[in-house]
Amino acid sequence: MPRSKMEFGRYLRQLELNGWGKEGQKRLGAAHVFMAGVGGLGSSAGIYLAAAGVGKITVCDSDRVELSNLNRQTLYGLADVGMPKAFLAAKRLKEFNPQIEVVPNMAEIDHGGAKKLIEGADLVLDCLDNLETRIAVNRASIATGIPMIFAACSELTGHLSFLHPPETPCLECFVSRTPPAVEPPIPGVTPGTMGALQAMEAIKYLLGVGENLTGRLLILEGMEPRIDVVDIERDPDCPACRGLR
Ligand SMILES: [Zn+2]
Repeated sequence: MPRSKMEFGRYLRQLELNGWGKEGQKRLGAAHVFMAGVGGLGSSAGIYLAAAGVGKITVCDSDRVELSNLNRQTLYGLADVGMPKAFLAAKRLKEFNPQIEVVPNMAEIDHGGAKKLIEGADLVLDCLDNLETRIAVNRASIATGIPMIFAACSELTGHLSFLHPPETPCLECFVSRTPPAVEPPIPGVTPGTMGALQAMEAIKYLLGVGENLTGRLLILEGMEPRIDVVDIERDPDCPACRGLR
C-alpha cells in the first residue's frame, strides 16, 4: 500500500469533517497529549485519542492494575492484575494505532514533579481520581500555560471543563476542597462517557475547530438522564490562579 494511503487511509471517515482534512490530520499527528492517569477516564480518552491519530501520547500512572479496576478500566483484563498500568496502556494504545508514539511513564505525579512531567506537551488530560494530584496538575498547568481538560466521575454523574487561565477558571476556582468521606461507586459507563468527551474536547482544541468548554462546566446526570452546561467564573481569591492575567 502506498505510504500516504496507509498514513491517511485509517482516518478517511474523519478527514471530511469541516476544518479537519489532511492538514488537520497532520496537526493531530504533530501534537503531544499528556495523560495524567490511565484508569477509567484514561482508558476511554486514550483509545479515542489514539484512534484519531494524536501523534504522541504520554500515559502517566504509577499504579498497578487491581481486580476491582476491571469494571471500568477497559484497557486492562484479568491477566493484567498486578502489572503497571502505564506500560500496559502504552502497549495497548500502540497496538491499536501503530502510527502513533505512546510513551509510558510510571512517575508519581506530585507538587514537586508535575511541572517537569507535563513540560513540552500541547495539552494535559486530567484523568485522575483524587483531588491532591489534580491540584498538583492544575498548578503545573498554570505554571506552564499548557491547557488542561478536567473530568471527574462518581456514580452516574460526570463533570467536564476546559481549563486555561486566565481565559478560564482554573480547577481550584470551582472545585470542592472537601473530598468525599468514602470512595463513591463508579460503574464503567460514567468514566467511559466522560473520557470520550475529554477526547472530543482535546481533538477540537488540537485541530482548532468548534468551541471548547471555556468558562463552562458540563454536568452529566446519567440517572435522569440530563446534560447541563453551566457558566463558571474565576475566583478572585483562588490560591492557584489569583493575580494571573
Ligand atoms: Zn483559580
